Amino acid sequence: MSISPTIRVRFAPSPTGYLHVGGLRTALYNYLFARKNNGTFVLRIEDTDRTRYVEGAVENLLKTLVWAGLEYDEGPVQDAGYKMQDSGFRLQVSGGRVSSNYQGVVEVGEYGPYIQSERLEIYKEHIHQLIEKKKAYYCFCTQERLEQLREAQQKEKLQTKYDKHCLNLSQSEIEENLEAKIPYVVRLNVEGNQTVVTDDVIRGRVEFDSNLIDDQVLVKSDGYPTYHFANVVDDHLMKITHVIRGEEWLPSTPKHALLYDAFEWEKPVFAHLPLLLNPDKSKLSKRQGDVAVEDYRSKGFLNEALVNFVALLGWNPGTEQELFSMEELVQQFSLERVHQAGAVFNLEKLNWLNFEHLRKKSDSEVLQMLKEQLAESRFKNKQFSDEYLLQVIEAMRPRMSFVKDIIEQSSYFFELPASYEEEGVKKRWKEETPSQLNRLIEEFSSLVNPTKEQYEQALHKAAESLGIGNGKLIHAVRLAVSGVSGGPGLYDMLFILGREEVIRRIETAIEKIKV
Ligand code: GLU
Repeated sequence: MSISPTIRVRFAPSPTGYLHVGGLRTALYNYLFARKNNGTFVLRIEDTDRTRYVEGAVENLLKTLVWAGLEYDEGPVQDAGYKMQDSGFRLQVSGGRVSSNYQGVVEVGEYGPYIQSERLEIYKEHIHQLIEKKKAYYCFCTQERLEQLREAQQKEKLQTKYDKHCLNLSQSEIEENLEAKIPYVVRLNVEGNQTVVTDDVIRGRVEFDSNLIDDQVLVKSDGYPTYHFANVVDDHLMKITHVIRGEEWLPSTPKHALLYDAFEWEKPVFAHLPLLLNPDKSKLSKRQGDVAVEDYRSKGFLNEALVNFVALLGWNPGTEQELFSMEELVQQFSLERVHQAGAVFNLEKLNWLNFEHLRKKSDSEVLQMLKEQLAESRFKNKQFSDEYLLQVIEAMRPRMSFVKDIIEQSSYFFELPASYEEEGVKKRWKEETPSQLNRLIEEFSSLVNPTKEQYEQALHKAAESLGIGNGKLIHAVRLAVSGVSGGPGLYDMLFILGREEVIRRIETAIEKIKV
């Protein structure tokens, strides 16, 4: 495929309330293709189906794209209130066109509006062009007539499609109907007996028989354009060169091709991405797990991991490499390496990628994330110094897959143990344990700003004077200070908590644990 220097691609989601992982993949492939080829990545909101309007969906979508790091060059953005720049986006919000339909949304770019509900005049003007050329026509058929037609066709085992009844109305009949305000739609006039051909980078040449294509509705009775019409008009006016989208839109492509021909416009290059499948090879569905990007985000997955994961759902670099940064994806991505076969959604791989991407983070990056998560946790009103949190991070890093593991698995760094693990108490807490721990407290009390080694020496000393093995004290003191049996090295834990706190916790445990 020869690539022109002025590549323009778009992600054109319908705001349904959340961003589907399949949508994230479409957005990502468009982004990668644009960046790789010095092209322009456009975001367009396709919100002409007013029956599916969901409050806050557009705003949520914009935030999710920012979170994923998919910076676009043109399109609607959240006004200054949302930290576009902070997240590294180059897009300058100042001077944009203010959206009339969405609060705090500003549009940037020369080809706007980028929100379809704000382009109604444009569609009106274009539908009239088609009506004049007789490529589209008014249809005044009632719902009843359409149903009768469908039933009759079904009975005769014919393909169900509109019978062009209204194509034969005279100009005066049309005018009378319009004057009488009879509800109407506008349909595409599909000529039969043609082969509609589209070239698809991933699927090759795709041919369709025009006899099987219905006279698609282009403008609905509420005056809004349908997806097909608005999508084609906008792709043309926004100078889109490559349409990269999910396979579910493949059946729409011949209708789009006919529309381009009707306008006598040049068609873009199409690339239909493979379906996403559940491990049992059925189409990815909510029933078998999370499909919203927001769900993965709130579960604590890193944006890098999710992006890396969806990049591999349909594309591979042709090498063994699986772990990618965004820059590496940009360098290596090509549409030619996108495969046709459905891509299986494998959560184990996502977990692994998260672990690997987390390992690459610096302590200060993890600190930032931990602070954000603490601010949303039950510890939000407590104060912890950065120095303290960094020590906790250092101790927990080898054992965490998610930053939130630090809060969930080692809450004892942020509060007194609320209880003591039953199994541990049964195994490790004997009648003589309190007096042994009191001996240990004596040793610890004599230490001044102890290091990890000094804690260890003090424990050994106490064990020796009691005539018991170190292990007895180690397990008991771990249970006393953390409430659980596992976790980071004991002396790391004692060092992080500090001498006063350690002694307080041992005393509390002696008081609370009854055997
Ligand atoms: N609005 C469509 C969607 O929700 C866009 C499909 C396309 O890219 O043409 O996915």
